Amino acid sequence: MPGLWPSSRPEAEVIFCRDADQARDGYGTVTAGPDDLAALMELLQRPDSDTRGLGDHLAFLAGTRPELFRPYQEAVITDMLERFDVSFADQCLLLGGAPDRCVEHLARRLRHHWSFGDAWAFAAIGSAAALSAIAEDVRNGGDREEYELCGIWVPPTGPALNRFSPHRRAVFLRPINQPGELAAVDHPVRLPVEQVAQRPSATLISWHYLSLRHTDVPGLPPWPADRVHLVGIRATCSWTLHAGIDDYGRYHSEAITYDEPPAAEEEETYRSLEVPGFGLGSVELRPYDTDLVYRNGHVQLTPGVVGTAGGPPTGLYANPSWPSCGQLMFHVVSVENRIREYGDGWRSLFICEDCQTVSCNATGWN
Ligand SMILES: [Zn+2]
Repeated sequence: MPGLWPSSRPEAEVIFCRDADQARDGYGTVTAGPDDLAALMELLQRPDSDTRGLGDHLAFLAGTRPELFRPYQEAVITDMLERFDVSFADQCLLLGGAPDRCVEHLARRLRHHWSFGDAWAFAAIGSAAALSAIAEDVRNGGDREEYELCGIWVPPTGPALNRFSPHRRAVFLRPINQPGELAAVDHPVRLPVEQVAQRPSATLISWHYLSLRHTDVPGLPPWPADRVHLVGIRATCSWTLHAGIDDYGRYHSEAITYDEPPAAEEEETYRSLEVPGFGLGSVELRPYDTDLVYRNGHVQLTPGVVGTAGGPPTGLYANPSWPSCGQLMFHVVSVENRIREYGDGWRSLFICEDCQTVSCNATGWN
């Protein structure tokens, strides 16, 4: 098994993940093993180590061999959470299923002094004990919104619910030049609006970002249509579109809420982009593996990657709840606007399987 770092290199350049720069320097993917992880954990305990750099290695581990982390779950939760600079999505894989005594430890700490860092770890554990304890925390005054940012909902009774799939897929974009090709792909980008809106002449939808075959994102709740669509409107960001679906999976009864109404000139800007043949493509969903670039808590620096399907929402913004049932909606996919340059920031798709409704939202970078 290759070592964690070449002997000629100082420890500070520990290589667990890879990116283009490392590949140029002759550092290919290093297969992470238990010895490497022990060394990594030693570094995490040192007060002078670069926790963000170590976070990249931990993200690589979460994406490739999270099971190796099990022996360290308890030590991290009890003693090292402040130095554990890892995204919530990666925490779910590294801390998921931690022993119930970790849940009890965090519950005690939160009762004594509530902090979002502890709440995230609590939420990442995801076990039955953790979900019951989260519900208790919220009903005793814990910050409901902080859990909802992570995609976790506390219903009026019973345990908290994870409103996201534990399975993540990297979303790779492939441009298409011929409109005819769109019909043959599983996950098209930029379908004509009439294929996704029941009343194209009256719809508020102006743009289609992508459609996903529901069954290709493991762990989504049951859905009556073959595909779910992420769509947009003529505004840069800070909006949410709610809609119902018809028997063909097309959207109807659209309604939009804005954080800030768009400026008048925005509409013209986006209208000018809606030319036939612009922005066609398809996406491919691939499991997380050693070929992705893990950096700053995401995989967006991997060539071709535009987002993630499954997993928790981005955690940067409040997630939609369906107005009539009040349930936090289930996260399906989040992509950057560069999937096609229309708008700015993140575009996310959520569903409520009970009401059979969808929400698409647009948020700035952060
Ligand atoms: Zn609902």
